[in-house]
Amino acid sequence: MKRTIFLVLLTFCAVFNIGAQNICPQTIAHRGDWMPEGSAENSRTSLRRALDLGIFGSEIDIWITRDGHIMVNHDPTYEGISLQDTTYAACKKLRLENGEKMPQLKDLLKILKKSKSPTRLVVEVKSHRDPQRSRDCATAAVAAIRKYGVEDRVLYISFSIEACETIHQLAPTADIAYLSGNRTPAEVHQMGLTGIDYNIKVFRKHPEWVAEAHALGMNVNVWTVDKPDDIRAMRDLGVDYITTNKPALCDQLLQR
Ligand code: MG
Repeated sequence: MKRTIFLVLLTFCAVFNIGAQNICPQTIAHRGDWMPEGSAENSRTSLRRALDLGIFGSEIDIWITRDGHIMVNHDPTYEGISLQDTTYAACKKLRLENGEKMPQLKDLLKILKKSKSPTRLVVEVKSHRDPQRSRDCATAAVAAIRKYGVEDRVLYISFSIEACETIHQLAPTADIAYLSGNRTPAEVHQMGLTGIDYNIKVFRKHPEWVAEAHALGMNVNVWTVDKPDDIRAMRDLGVDYITTNKPALCDQLLQR
């Protein structure tokens, strides 16, 4: 009976858009502001550039090494080195396309802490081969973020259920969004998470999930949206955040 009442209420809210925030979405730079010359994905420069733009957020991807260091990189491997299977000694030699050293999470937390920008860091805990390693990476990330005192300026995202659950246990008030797109807003809410962060294709198939998530008090983020028409379409759908490789363009379009 309770469940029926809940579903009726949810449908009512979704149909009448109750709970939707009805404000313009905000921009999140995917892997930082990396496209301009001299920048690189997941680099110190791409974070600094995003902080300078003053947009809502700047996203990074993290892996934990065998000896417990948190490296920032999108793919599981870099120049043939599998980050989750190696040690910091090997990672320390790696150089990004713009010549910078591959950062550790703590390098970027230092930059964030020093900055007065309102831009938040969106930390994606990557899905490691062994789910326990995803938990370890999440645990180490929460500890590092706490150590630098920037809990209020960080959001978490992950494809890994284990990572999401671990962060929620360790930091119950943290903003955590699930990335996989295979769970309804109600299912993600049940896990105790605060948002859904799904591919644009998911919202094309399930546009009603935006209002459903809002009715549950959750945030909605969409990735990776670079084309002006898609940016406008997602704005009109009512999402809260747009994750893009073109943060300056996206922010400009959303301000209009
Ligand atoms: Mg990512």
